[in-house]
Amino acid sequence: MISSEAAPFAKTGGLADVVGSLPSALRSFGDEVAVVIPRYGSIDLKNARRVWDNLPVHFGPVSYPVSIYQAPADYPVYLVDCPPLYDRKGFYGESGMDYPDNHIRFAVFCRAALGVARVLFRTDIFHCHDWQTGLVPAYLRTTFATDPTFLGCRTLFTIHNLGYQGLFPKTALAEVALDPAVYRPDGMEFFGRVSYLKAGIQFADALSTVSPTYAREIQTPEFGFGLDDCLRDRASVLNGILNGVDYAEWSPQTDPHIPAPYSAEDLGGKATCKRQLLEEFGLPAAGTDRPLLGMVSRFTRQKGTGILAEIAAQMVAEDVYLVALGEGDPEYEDFFLRMQQEHPGRIAARIGFDNGLAHRIEAGADIFLMPSHYEPCGLNQIYSLHYGTVPVVRATGGLDDTIEEGTGFKFAEYSGEALLAAVRAAVHAFADRESWQRMMRRGMSKDFSWKMSAAAYSALYRRLLAR
Ligand code: ADP
Repeated sequence: MISSEAAPFAKTGGLADVVGSLPSALRSFGDEVAVVIPRYGSIDLKNARRVWDNLPVHFGPVSYPVSIYQAPADYPVYLVDCPPLYDRKGFYGESGMDYPDNHIRFAVFCRAALGVARVLFRTDIFHCHDWQTGLVPAYLRTTFATDPTFLGCRTLFTIHNLGYQGLFPKTALAEVALDPAVYRPDGMEFFGRVSYLKAGIQFADALSTVSPTYAREIQTPEFGFGLDDCLRDRASVLNGILNGVDYAEWSPQTDPHIPAPYSAEDLGGKATCKRQLLEEFGLPAAGTDRPLLGMVSRFTRQKGTGILAEIAAQMVAEDVYLVALGEGDPEYEDFFLRMQQEHPGRIAARIGFDNGLAHRIEAGADIFLMPSHYEPCGLNQIYSLHYGTVPVVRATGGLDDTIEEGTGFKFAEYSGEALLAAVRAAVHAFADRESWQRMMRRGMSKDFSWKMSAAAYSALYRRLLAR
């Protein structure tokens, strides 16, 4: 698996959770997996082993010095080390600005990952995740098309979010030594630029995305980000496989991050989690009896901040409390800080990335809010189910596939009005404590572990190899 993120080494969102937990789940199907990620500055090499000293990547006259470390894990996790490219504050950029050399950073990464396959881990299937790895299938189809090392290898490209496309000027192709012939509408060309995401879509042997509904949605102009036509062309190899979750990480019975454990049989600890969460956010203890809404998210337009802004005042008027944790676009970070100022003692926000706090919000909130504009799969609503935190979600992508009447509240139209109606329905239902607890328990009994989804990936790998 080639990915720009993998938990616990590097994480900004759900991609990391998936790449961090799918490999172990695949083991039970006999699939041996290695994971390759960049060695960002934040990854400590203290316990890692240097396993390959010199695997330089040459793009014409320019050469990038690369070495490979192996991190301690249950399966091989290879870290591509090239300090001038990856030893920086961010993964993709800083202060809301992408790094200007991302086309080179992730091209070098893809080439280094192919190098890992050449010298360290014999590979049958390159399972590539998101635009940062889209050049793996492209190099295999062009530069290495006749290289005996890769004969018979197959590629699977998984789209975790079509909204991030790796778009660069056409001149990028020369800088990353790609055959100029790929600059065509059925190659990497995308409205006068090159798209690394489109490279993955066009050149991989098979495609997948992270929920059945999202697999359908991305073939429509509304959700296709301009790529719907090429996804429709590849519909016969496009699979929708719902993400699984790692309940070893996310279970209220065993979670070391939360102040009191609880379970469906004994919900007692959840009240402690709620009380302490209110306190942690500086909200009044009076909130204990009223619904506490939680959000954990990348603060971007995708996550529905726009419609939340429309209705924040009316929502608060329902006598509810909201805690939110996230980071992302400065515009949306400011929005949450403003909401906090406008509704002191009601809304409290934390800007930043804090895994422990994410767990405490899952445990301490009554209702989890995900009003996403679109959501390929979404993991937080699945964690919420397991923590007895009833999700209020927009019926899109994986949110629609995982939440049903009886386990949460869904709304269809992307509007403040529809969101408010769903929040009001949840607040109303919260008042009947017995039926609310039945709803919590129904959610807690759902099983979204990797079992089924890993089986689907394993079967897909096998189909690919049999081709
Ligand atoms: P996406 O991948 O679009 O960001 P998902 O719901 O699929 O959304 O996954 C988000 C993952 O990232 C979850 O594990 C969530 O807890 C975590 N996460 C997101 N933002 C933060 C944050 N600010 N602090 C801690 N964890 C976060």
